[in-house]
Amino acid sequence: MRLQLKFALFNTFSKMLIVVAFWLLLPTFIDNIASIHMDKKLVGKMEKMKKLIQKGGINQIKDEEDCSYGDYNLLKDEYITVEPYPNQLDTFNIKDGHHSFEGENLPYRVLNTTLVYEGQIYMMEIGEGLTSMHLLIKILKKYTFEWMSLFIFLTLLLDLTFSRFLLAPLNRIINKKLKETRHPSNFDFSSSKSSTKDFKYLEESINEMMHKIQNAFNIEKEFITNVSHELLTPISILQSKIETLVSDPKTSEEVSLKLLDSQKTLIRLNKIIKTLLLISKIENEQYIKEEKVDLKILIIEVIEEIEERLTEKNITITQNWEDDFVFSKGNKSLLFTMFFNLISNAIKYNKPDGKIIINGYSQKKNFVVEITDTGVGIEKSNLPHIFERFKRFDSRGVEGYGLGLPIVKTISIFHDINIEVNSEVNKGSTFRLFFKE
Ligand code: ADP
Repeated sequence: MRLQLKFALFNTFSKMLIVVAFWLLLPTFIDNIASIHMDKKLVGKMEKMKKLIQKGGINQIKDEEDCSYGDYNLLKDEYITVEPYPNQLDTFNIKDGHHSFEGENLPYRVLNTTLVYEGQIYMMEIGEGLTSMHLLIKILKKYTFEWMSLFIFLTLLLDLTFSRFLLAPLNRIINKKLKETRHPSNFDFSSSKSSTKDFKYLEESINEMMHKIQNAFNIEKEFITNVSHELLTPISILQSKIETLVSDPKTSEEVSLKLLDSQKTLIRLNKIIKTLLLISKIENEQYIKEEKVDLKILIIEVIEEIEERLTEKNITITQNWEDDFVFSKGNKSLLFTMFFNLISNAIKYNKPDGKIIINGYSQKKNFVVEITDTGVGIEKSNLPHIFERFKRFDSRGVEGYGLGLPIVKTISIFHDINIEVNSEVNKGSTFRLFFKE
């Protein structure tokens, strides 16, 4: 999950928790506020009633027959009752209670107090209806839930937009500094625009690390060039010396044979050094890839070059091209080497009178070139190692250095070509190359 989404979801979740807690506590909260307000109102009414009775006498509010009084308003949201009472209360008390009206039992906030009038103690009860408040709480709960849900949804959108804006420099840094850097030599040291200190710090750290990597690469490049030069020069001196000795009539046949053996070793050494040098140069991006290369034509050129070996083993080669494909940014000579090595292996590890099939077709956003042989195949357990340097498996006396496929891999990485290999022992192998269209 992306950081941006995690951030937005966490924010939404935490807000949701707060909102749910608020929603659950809302009735108690309103209840408390309303009670404080009602209690003040009840006390005010009680004092007003007491004053009224002191001034005008209890008769004005007292029912004459049963010496009790009841006053109810039409909406039943308040009532006052006054009844004779045996004891006098010290003060008043207020609590929630119920009162019946025409058979209806309704909730009230009720104040009870006693008053003395002309020697008689009366109990005065004043009630403030709670029905409307309960209704208010219900409505508030409903609306709060709806509005809060809308609020959470809006904040989720806002969070997503803001975090996208906030993390945009991070994506820019990742793309510019890491994804688009194919090789340390073409690393972009320029700074990406960001006002966030952390991103600036990250960018500086990557730049610093890349400086170190570039230095290490340069040292390695220099080392390889020096070593190769120091090795190749004495090898060619030795080779020409051997040649002179072999062509000298004074050299006996026995010595000549030994010298030719040594020369073979020198040729082998020369090839290995040159191949390693080639791999290192490709890895260090010392080649350019600006040529348009028609793959069909290139493979025909490779086959022409290798024809003699095909005839020697009586191997037939078939080609099926569904489409032509021109690779727009390639290095022709490197691509030639890549196909040469693959077709050369398809011959080397094929059986006499075997077949090689080359297919070219488009698949999704790739152009695929498939090289299939009917050769000895590769053991499943060896497949993950075939591109490793100097690795050779069951080569049955076939000449080689174990560097053909490592070159193929290096050239394919250089050109951003994916390779897939399928193989079955004694049936043959298929090397599939995916060129991005
Ligand atoms: P080399 O051919 O010089 O030995 P490679 O790097 O080209 O070196 O190949 C490495 C090993 O992979 C070979 O020694 C061989 O065992 C195996 N291999 C490569 N290509 C094929 C193929 N088409 N069929 C069977 N085995 C193969």
